[in-house]
Amino acid sequence: MAMDKRIYLCLAHMSESGMEQKYVKEAFDTNWVVPLGPNVNGFEKDLEDFVGQGKRVVALSSGTAAVHLALIGCGVQPGDEVLVQSFTFCASANPVTYLGAIPVFVDSEPGSWNKDPVLLEKAIVDRMEITGKKPKAIIPVALYGMPYDIHRIMEIANRYDIPVVEDAAEGFGSRVDGQVLGTFGRYGVLSFNGNKMITTSGGGALICPDEESWREVMFYATQAREAYPYYQHEHIGYNYRMSNVCAGIGRGQMTVLEDHIAHHHRMFELYSELLRSVEGITVHANPTDHYDSNFWLNTILLDPQLKVCGQESAYQHVVQGAVGGAGGVVHATAEAHTAHEPNANVEAMRVFLDAKGVEARPLWKPMHLQPVFKGCPAYVNGVSEALFKQGVCLPSGPCVSEEDAVYIVNAIKEAVL
Ligand SMILES: *Cc1c(COP(=O)(O)O)cnc(C)c1O
Repeated sequence: MAMDKRIYLCLAHMSESGMEQKYVKEAFDTNWVVPLGPNVNGFEKDLEDFVGQGKRVVALSSGTAAVHLALIGCGVQPGDEVLVQSFTFCASANPVTYLGAIPVFVDSEPGSWNKDPVLLEKAIVDRMEITGKKPKAIIPVALYGMPYDIHRIMEIANRYDIPVVEDAAEGFGSRVDGQVLGTFGRYGVLSFNGNKMITTSGGGALICPDEESWREVMFYATQAREAYPYYQHEHIGYNYRMSNVCAGIGRGQMTVLEDHIAHHHRMFELYSELLRSVEGITVHANPTDHYDSNFWLNTILLDPQLKVCGQESAYQHVVQGAVGGAGGVVHATAEAHTAHEPNANVEAMRVFLDAKGVEARPLWKPMHLQPVFKGCPAYVNGVSEALFKQGVCLPSGPCVSEEDAVYIVNAIKEAVL
């Protein structure tokens, strides 16, 4: 088993019944090989049925596109400010800059690891005082699938009349008090990238509050064309609609969404149980009964005092390529260190697990510590920085078996001195 193969964090996993191929074949057979068609409509209908609350959904080419269009829907203009959770993947913040607006980063609370409502309100008041205008949107992020304190965030957002864009890209199927994330705010972002809860190979969706905003999002997603016999443009649009081929994969994946979520839950239970006896390691759990994380990635924290095999030589080598073999190109680096990096025991654990054929990854590095955002305002409390230094993501996807989880935990125990 485990040594012959690599165990990845979360790989795409098709249904046993092969429904994805059936829908994709239908797209070819009926010549709907375009970014619209029966699969796109069907997938959107499936998503609307799943999220409920009478929401409308637009299927898009990526989750990043969904963030971008949500911000346009909120009326974000050049020079505006948007309050983004700092502890996130860059795709929550990058679209703010696509619009010439400024991300203002807000740190996390220790329980959920997500946007701290107290800091959020402080940031709103402070930005209004400094700039004389209100931030245009608030973006909380369901990091690793864990819900944010949506009730308090909505209360604050409503009081200041600022729209909320929920980034539920990692939190598809997570719930607060039984309601699906992405349906509380004005907009909800979903991602179907290859590593997310379900995949369309690459894609995303925007959950919209009503018919009118749905039409507006659709307009901008399809090149912003006015109703004339010729191309007439009065706004700048985008080519962001999902392909009918990809949507076929999505329709098939919707048949196994609940199975995937149940699997990630099972992985959480296993890791919690198997690591309970290990001192200095804690598994990230729902901080309250009101939250129901999808446990997209299960994560652990290593106590800074914990000694891990090889930690004295951590960071001695410059990493070649992307950790975990992510696609695309990464810039080569001559430096083994940056100003902010995970503790040596975390890096040693990553290297140890890697040698055992297990992909592990540090937690996402907060945006307020990223050089590319160094000029942006940030409201910080030290929580995300501390978590970044101590955390490790563990394999959690449907390709990870229960046997694999046991193997992984044994490797973790072996690494601890
Ligand atoms: C993956 C992700 C996105 C973007 O989704 P893509 O489909 O990869 O563009 C946005 N926000 C977060 C937090 C994500 O993890």
